[in-house]
Amino acid sequence: MPFEITENVTLAPFTTYKIGGPARYFCRVHSYDELKEALIWSHKNEIPFVVIGGGSNLLVHDEGFDGLVIKMEDRGISIKGTLIEAGAGAVLATVAYTASEAGLSGLEWAFGVPGTIGGAVRGNAGAFGSDMSEIVVDVEVIDTEKGTVFHLSPQEIGYGYRTSRFKKEPTWLITRALFQMNPDDSAYCMERVEEFLEKKNTSQPTGKQCAGSVFQNPPISDLSRISEVPVEFLSRERIPVGWLLEQCNLKGHVIGQACISTKHANFFVNLGGATYEDMAGLIRFAKDRVASKFGILLKEEIQYIGNPNTVPLNH
Ligand SMILES: Cc1cc2nc3c(=O)[nH]c(=O)nc-3n(C[C@H](O)[C@H](O)[C@H](O)COP(=O)(O)OP(=O)(O)OC[C@H]3O[C@@H](n4cnc5c(N)ncnc54)[C@H](O)[C@@H]3O)c2cc1C
Repeated sequence: MPFEITENVTLAPFTTYKIGGPARYFCRVHSYDELKEALIWSHKNEIPFVVIGGGSNLLVHDEGFDGLVIKMEDRGISIKGTLIEAGAGAVLATVAYTASEAGLSGLEWAFGVPGTIGGAVRGNAGAFGSDMSEIVVDVEVIDTEKGTVFHLSPQEIGYGYRTSRFKKEPTWLITRALFQMNPDDSAYCMERVEEFLEKKNTSQPTGKQCAGSVFQNPPISDLSRISEVPVEFLSRERIPVGWLLEQCNLKGHVIGQACISTKHANFFVNLGGATYEDMAGLIRFAKDRVASKFGILLKEEIQYIGNPNTVPLNH
């Protein structure tokens, strides 16, 4: 599809929650040049912008976003020896599958994680004890404020649990990334892909309208009422938030058309027709319950778009 900026585009279909009102302006960018064109247009017209990838970690306001939504769709993937380079809009699962099929290990866990390379590199997506920080060697970035392009090493990205420096620098856009993989037998890699997928399907509500984990697992040090936690959690750095939510009897709790999954309490599901307020209300309710039972203030892993109270600066 050629590059064009369209008006009044409903965002719900571009998110896995299927929630969210219209973007005043919307475009898909398939290359660096198209991204540049979109950014220049937004700058010239003084229209705020936000980028999205697969929309699999987003809760978009029912009133939508009064600006330009740029959907990253530069999906190029290339293999050079044991290195894989991918555009920010490349689908993470496709990169994981391409790598595993080529006998390059390191992303087998990611096959069941929706979204794009840009979203995964920014949020340090991970599963089953692995995450993106283990394979990232170089990330190409545009500083949309200064109009500069530069490269960052993993040390400069400052990776942590589901976080990176990108979360503190909302004017930085990821355009591509380079990953160091480990050579392995492709059949073994594909076996691991299947195993991880199986584990994910049995423990999480896959195939539902959700956005993965709503909250980050809080550090064990945040817990004031330590006596209430099973001993096996005490040796871990973080408490599984699913367990905290379960202890508050929240599995299956419904507000409007938003429901806390009965399969995994940290997955909130749109039963069909949930509004932003249904989902945001359910999130607030769960936070309050965990705060009063355990004295912990949960932090969202999902990102908000269009809510003036929670949206980062460039959004
Ligand atoms: C069923 C299901 C299972 C999931 N399982 C997991 C899991 O196991 N582990 C896990 O970590 N996550 C999981 N998630 C959450 C989600 O898949 C990840 O967070 C994913 O990395 C988000 O990528 P995305 O492209 O969809 O980002 P989006 O949701 O589109 O955006 C997320 C944020 O990244 C920003 N962003 C996107 N692209 C760029 C870019 N190029 N440059 C700068 N910023 C950008 C956006 O502005 C936004 O703030 C799951 C989600 C679902 C629906």
